[in-house]
Amino acid sequence: MVKNYAEKLVERILENLLENNSEYAHICRCDDCMDDIKAKALNNIKPFYITGKIGEVYGEYFMRECQNSTNIVIEVTKAIEHVNSNRNHDNSFVKYVG
Ligand SMILES: [Zn+2]
Repeated sequence: MVKNYAEKLVERILENLLENNSEYAHICRCDDCMDDIKAKALNNIKPFYITGKIGEVYGEYFMRECQNSTNIVIEVTKAIEHVNSNRNHDNSFVKYVG
């Protein structure tokens, strides 16, 4: 099975940002909005694919290395702001593509 550790990384950064920034207290945290934020950020972040048990070790290492990466934090921040200001719970992802 192929896994993209950039997804886990984005999830972790998103959780941290939402927890630690009072300015994000009003952000909708439903599954749709969270998925839209992750998808939007991931489109701008290089994937880190792994397979198998050894891959997971590399994946964890990658996450530790990148957790404070400014570029990735900026992408997630931009995605939060974009989804928040274009919130639409019906097919919202359609708004960003094309
Ligand atoms: Zn929502």
